[in-house]
Amino acid sequence: MTVVLILVWCILAWVGSAAYNDHMSDLVIKEELLQAQKQLLSVSSNVEDYLKYLRNTPATLAGEDSVHKELEHFGPQIVPSKLSQEERKFRWIKDSELSRLNTFLATAASGVDADVIWIVNAAGDCIASSNAGKTSSFVGTNYKDREYFQQARDGHLGSQYAVGKVSKIPGFFYSYPVRDSKARFIGAVVVKRDITDFLHWTSADNAFIADSSGVVVLAEDKNLLNKTMPGALVGTLPAQTKIDRYRREILAPVDIHPWGNNRYPELIRLGEGSMPLILGSKAGADGSMTIYLPRPLPELVRVENQRTWLFLMLAVAGSMLILAVSAAALYVHAIRHAKEVAESASRTKSQFLANMSHEIRTPMNGVMGMTQLLLETKLDDEQRQFALDIASSGESLLAIINDILDLSKIEADRMEFDIHPFPITALTDSIASLLKIRAKQKDIGFNIEVTPDAMGNFMGDSLRIRQILLNLAGNAVKFTESGEVRVKISRLPNGLRFEVVDTGIGISMEAREWLFSNFSQVDASITRKFGGTGLGLAISKRMTEAMGGRIGVESTVGRGSTFWFELPLEETTDIPIVGAAAIPTPVVGQPTESNNADSQPIDQSPPTKPASGLSPQVENAPLPLLLAEDNKINQKLALALLGRLGYIVDLAENGREAVEAVGRKRYALILMDMQMPEMDGLEATRQIRLLDGINAGIPIVALTANAMQSDFDACRTAGMNDFLTKPINRDNLTACLERWIAVV
Ligand code: ADP
Repeated sequence: MTVVLILVWCILAWVGSAAYNDHMSDLVIKEELLQAQKQLLSVSSNVEDYLKYLRNTPATLAGEDSVHKELEHFGPQIVPSKLSQEERKFRWIKDSELSRLNTFLATAASGVDADVIWIVNAAGDCIASSNAGKTSSFVGTNYKDREYFQQARDGHLGSQYAVGKVSKIPGFFYSYPVRDSKARFIGAVVVKRDITDFLHWTSADNAFIADSSGVVVLAEDKNLLNKTMPGALVGTLPAQTKIDRYRREILAPVDIHPWGNNRYPELIRLGEGSMPLILGSKAGADGSMTIYLPRPLPELVRVENQRTWLFLMLAVAGSMLILAVSAAALYVHAIRHAKEVAESASRTKSQFLANMSHEIRTPMNGVMGMTQLLLETKLDDEQRQFALDIASSGESLLAIINDILDLSKIEADRMEFDIHPFPITALTDSIASLLKIRAKQKDIGFNIEVTPDAMGNFMGDSLRIRQILLNLAGNAVKFTESGEVRVKISRLPNGLRFEVVDTGIGISMEAREWLFSNFSQVDASITRKFGGTGLGLAISKRMTEAMGGRIGVESTVGRGSTFWFELPLEETTDIPIVGAAAIPTPVVGQPTESNNADSQPIDQSPPTKPASGLSPQVENAPLPLLLAEDNKINQKLALALLGRLGYIVDLAENGREAVEAVGRKRYALILMDMQMPEMDGLEATRQIRLLDGINAGIPIVALTANAMQSDFDACRTAGMNDFLTKPINRDNLTACLERWIAVV
């Protein structure tokens, strides 16, 4: 994934850097084109200004009387001279009239900064020239084959690039016709400027000049000289003309190529040059030359080079960012995974603890039940004390198991609340009956006060509320040596406030900070003296909060403590269950205090009549009970307990045997263990409820070490009537049996 992202990013970076680069290149080129244009204009206007001046010179001189006079002397239709060039030259230089003209021309040439000015007659022979006195004198030379002569003869203003016939120096030639009074062509004035003189204007800008045929005639770069520009007309010229004009017949094209791709057609490469150029060009006004100005673009090269760096920078930075983000995401995912593992481990641990507690409860059932039976046999004092010790140790152990079970359930998010209507008196009666005796033993007072407005029926889980209150009040009694413990229940706008006020040892400020956390005891030595697991307050806090309430404490060391909790409880007009069923002994919680095991009725209406139409009490012989239990010790214990209570009991080793027994024989009640091999208690109950015979409607009481609300619901759904949790306590068993069997 990361690799794909990096790849995509690199592609984007490439496209992005290209787009950016193109934009920058566009800007550079736009600017350079402007600059090139300016530069070219400046060069060409200099040249043009000069040329204009030069071009006008023949026209001006053509109007001179001396020029006219001499040319008229030769006339319009002169026959080509029979004399040789040398003789002509000799004769005309000697001629005094012409000699004056020569002097005049020389003065004019230096005045207009021309290299040579000369006069040709109608036959094209040079009759006078500014350089007449020099060895390179033009006088006598015939120019009729020159374009500029022909142009003048045809009545035009002549202009031409050519290599000088005498001097062999290339240059630009300009001519102007001279006519007699009858407007007949009698000759022309010609001016020449050596090409190298133009370097004065071109060299600074590396400009070069091509003539009207497109041949480069002036360039500092020797590679360009005498090369043809694209589209040059020189190819159409006759070979001799080329030789005359350029001293060569073959003229190679200039090495010009487009630069790079076609994006910028204005960019070229000249020869082997490594720099892109803009080649500006401007034709002269008379068409005799074109000035070219190559402008190199180093800035463009820099921008082009930047592209690679820009791409590399973007690619590397982006890839690093992607890597960092991926690493961070991976880290978070690790962290999250670790958290999930930890949470799952915590849940597994809590589940394990819950399972273990259940497993411990089963043998505890045996230990405590058997001890109870043992205590009812004939024992000497020492043996009785031993048995009592076993019983009290068992109760302590059970208290711890119950606490751990509670906490595990809370931590495994499996704490369930059974909301039902209950009267406040049921709560206070139950607390009072449990703690009054203990307070009396310690010679301290124990009072419960309920404000009149709190004296009603409320919707809530009375079992859990009683558990919290019992824990706080039990602690208060435990940690109070003199004075009293008062339980106060008062109304809040949306519920009830419970307060337990004692005059005991009190709790320091620091201890109050962590009092409600797991396994916290203020003073280990005190705790050893008083006993306890340090879980009670933690459980109380979690339960209170789970019910939407809050809990707290105020205390002064040596003076006493006030523990309080507030719960949102709705008052109700529903009639709560009264009597034994109203506040069933807790499923979990404080069996140490309650000293009993659990009994929770499911169906509050005991059958008045068995299906046979006869109630058990009108039978002659009492009907037997059926016990379905697979654990040998529990079998023994239950059989002994029930035997002592006067019941006859049939035993089924598992659910399947129980179903078979019920099909065969009539029973008063079935005590059904939940977990059994072959067929469990729930399935057996379902099958028994389907039987429509002698035992239809028989009361079935669950016996289980599972103490969860969900187990209770499962029993009810399967068709059970009541629920006894292990370890089975004799009083609860008796009460339960009496509830379901009127007379035994
Ligand atoms: P335990 O089962 O040890 O009593 P609790 O969580 O109920 O556990 O209480 C934790 C500790 O808080 C006790 O061990 C005791 O030190 C302190 N404590 C609780 N209630 C009182 C009280 N009313 N007076 C003084 N100390 C108390």
